Amino acid sequence: MEHYICQTCGTQYAASLKPPESCRVCTDDRQYVNSNGQQWTTLAEMKTSGHRIVVQPVEPGLKGLGVEPAFAIGQRSLLVQAHMGNILWDPVSYIDETAVHRIKDMGGVQAISVSHPHFYASMVEWSHAFDRAPIYLPAADYGWVMRNDPVIHFYEDSLMVMPGITLIRCGGHFDGSAVLHWANGADGRGALLAGDTLMVTQDRRHVSFMYSFPNLIPLSASAVLRIVERVNSYRFERIYSAWWGRTISVDATAAVHRSADRYLKAIQEHPHLHSSGAPSLAPDACCHQNGPATDPRSFQ
Ligand SMILES: [Zn+2]
Ligand SMILES: [Zn+2]
Repeated sequence: MEHYICQTCGTQYAASLKPPESCRVCTDDRQYVNSNGQQWTTLAEMKTSGHRIVVQPVEPGLKGLGVEPAFAIGQRSLLVQAHMGNILWDPVSYIDETAVHRIKDMGGVQAISVSHPHFYASMVEWSHAFDRAPIYLPAADYGWVMRNDPVIHFYEDSLMVMPGITLIRCGGHFDGSAVLHWANGADGRGALLAGDTLMVTQDRRHVSFMYSFPNLIPLSASAVLRIVERVNSYRFERIYSAWWGRTISVDATAAVHRSADRYLKAIQEHPHLHSSGAPSLAPDACCHQNGPATDPRSFQ
């Protein structure tokens, strides 16, 4: 029996004699099947092919853990070293003894959480390597757990894992898409570990919100408003998305408001189908000439 790992999304599956027929995560319309077709690997194969974990300091009390050579979606994990223990956010697909020893020297892992199913990866392996540390996931994404295990616990809308560390379900990209609020991050001004629930864009001054990033499917205005509302009651200066360098270092609360405003403006036009079936954006064809149907309230 083997725990197969999908090479495109990095999800590790429950033990089986043969690789699964297909990957449920990749056949969903938020992901894609590699142009070479479905391919599987295992942790042993990844080790043989030279994969390893690299650790980089990000800010005091925060380390990044990445996989080299890059694998699957290419995200890196974050390890928050809080006063009452270490929390591993968005664990990656690869793990080996060298990485475990190194992280034990940094205090180990006392709890694990994940922003959304694209990053469930090898979370159970990480938990088992650290005395079966509990994994906290939003109940809304229960159906996306491909390797179940007693270490997994579900929460509803939010969960304080320990003082100053709160998981917040925001929805959007997935029903359970979540962020981790770290109150002591950014020198006590607060940081959000956001996965791709709020995706820091290339200019590192904005975030974006998508149902599918690889297939470019946007979210509705109401979904974007809900995400902003969910994080609005928390203080944060900084946002870390799931890749190296995708960080808004200062004034991130204003950046979220500015980004949501920009996003809502971009999606507020409503095309209408002509009798020919062709979409039209002509103003006189629009039923919202007195303003968009969605609440255009400004966040600035
Ligand atoms: Zn997959
Ligand atoms: Zn994703």
